[in-house]
Amino acid sequence: MTGPSIVWLRRDLRLRDNPALYRAAALGPVLPVYIHAPEEEGNHATGAAGAWWLHCALRELQQELKACSSRLLILRGEDSLAVLRRLIRDTDAAAVLWNRRYEPAGIQVDRRVKAALREDGIRAESFPGNLLREPWEVQRKDGGSFRAFTPFWRASHRLPPPATPLPAPQLEPPAHWPDSLEPDELELLPRIPWYRGFESCWQPGEQGANTALDIFVRNQLSGYAGHRDLPGTPGTSRLSPHLHFGELSPRQVWAAVHASRQYDSDSATTFLSELGWREFAHHLLYYHPQMPDTPLDRRFEEFPWAEEQEGPLQTWQQGQTGIPIVDAGMRELWHTGWMHNRVRMIVGSLLTKNLRIPWQRGERWFRDTLVDADLASNSMGWQWVQGCGADAAPYFRIFNPVRQGERFDPDGTYVRRWVPELARLPTGNLHAPWDASVCTLRKAGVTLGETYPEPLVDLGTSRKAALDAYQTIRNG
Ligand SMILES: Cc1cc2nc3c(=O)[nH]c(=O)nc-3n(C[C@H](O)[C@H](O)[C@H](O)COP(=O)(O)OP(=O)(O)OC[C@H]3O[C@@H](n4cnc5c(N)ncnc54)[C@H](O)[C@@H]3O)c2cc1C
Repeated sequence: MTGPSIVWLRRDLRLRDNPALYRAAALGPVLPVYIHAPEEEGNHATGAAGAWWLHCALRELQQELKACSSRLLILRGEDSLAVLRRLIRDTDAAAVLWNRRYEPAGIQVDRRVKAALREDGIRAESFPGNLLREPWEVQRKDGGSFRAFTPFWRASHRLPPPATPLPAPQLEPPAHWPDSLEPDELELLPRIPWYRGFESCWQPGEQGANTALDIFVRNQLSGYAGHRDLPGTPGTSRLSPHLHFGELSPRQVWAAVHASRQYDSDSATTFLSELGWREFAHHLLYYHPQMPDTPLDRRFEEFPWAEEQEGPLQTWQQGQTGIPIVDAGMRELWHTGWMHNRVRMIVGSLLTKNLRIPWQRGERWFRDTLVDADLASNSMGWQWVQGCGADAAPYFRIFNPVRQGERFDPDGTYVRRWVPELARLPTGNLHAPWDASVCTLRKAGVTLGETYPEPLVDLGTSRKAALDAYQTIRNG
């Protein structure tokens, strides 16, 4: 009997459309393994909210594999190569297969593992499984990479369509199962159980991912173009954490949209182009591995940031800025591990422009508190908001959070849900309570500075200060 093939699972915690698993199953017995090695992620290890998700996703994957007469082997080590070599020795494995990841630290580890295993005489093979297209497949005519989304997405459409998703394979078990850790033993759950609220919002795991996709395509896809910017309406898919952990592949999402009767509607095109932004983020990170820490527009390295940062940063993190739509977003993030895309842009603009706090500090907070925290999308998003990234909003376009609230939360549903102390204010005053009359505030039970904070900054003055600061680097 041949030794088993090890399938090294990382950001592909699923059985369906998993090219490495599918290929391994065709070779003979399969040993699915997850190796917990956070040290290998360098400065960009999974944050606390992501760790909660990972804990749940591993438990779910254990169950899914058990139902297929297989198992998930969970191991811990500082060096994945050493762990794999030990496992190969213990099980007589002949091959190690995996789906590629694209974070700079992950790429380095995978290259080293592939070269070392091949030198050991082990079959080591990697597969594309987590993007519609490999980051290097989409190229400019002169062979270079893209810095703007629209030409990137257009070039991507000129390539053959993404392959049809693979079914879950039949898994033959290995002759013996080595000892495994339980997810609890990885100690992924944050010590302070602030994640309790997540449990009622999410169903991590492959089954939850497929249910969310079905519900979205059936009920929300048709209205996506009209509703996607309204945080008070359940108008987006909320697939981002499932995609991040690979419980669902983008090819499955692509195929589900194309199989629906609406695949050529405006809504479907807009939705698929959002998947395109995810692809673009990975393309940028692949070609600019410094993107999580360094502005792509190098002039911003000299930007005159505010001198006082700690206090305002904390107030922002706690959702106590006194600016209702910003506080609503930051509280949604804390309670659910997720924030609506429109509101991510609004809270980011306030932090980096009105408060002049470096985008990297916002990126770090999101990385720790978002269940979908993803190095590529998060750093691209923050550089976009700051105006220092590829295809970014120009710096001088500073969101006015009051106008944004009035436009995208016109009946105040979102602010009332997350800032209940303002719930009784009339809608006309909800996004700028400081402009309401004393009588209106009193009737709504609001005392500014007591039941709800005074605004942390004057929006007009801080906007002007931000534009003045920008002038100092503009021609640099
Ligand atoms: C400052 C900032 C930080 C962000 N950080 C992250 C992050 O860490 N992880 C993350 O997945 N997204 C991030 N985004 C992008 C976006 O906000 C989320 O992908 C989206 O809100 C997820 O909700 P959804 O699944 O309902 O999206 P939908 O609108 O249903 O979109 C479908 C999918 O497309 C992808 N997508 C949508 N918009 C974007 C985008 N602008 N950039 C990249 N991919 C996109 C996501 O995978 C999403 O699940 C960030 C955006 C900003 C402005």
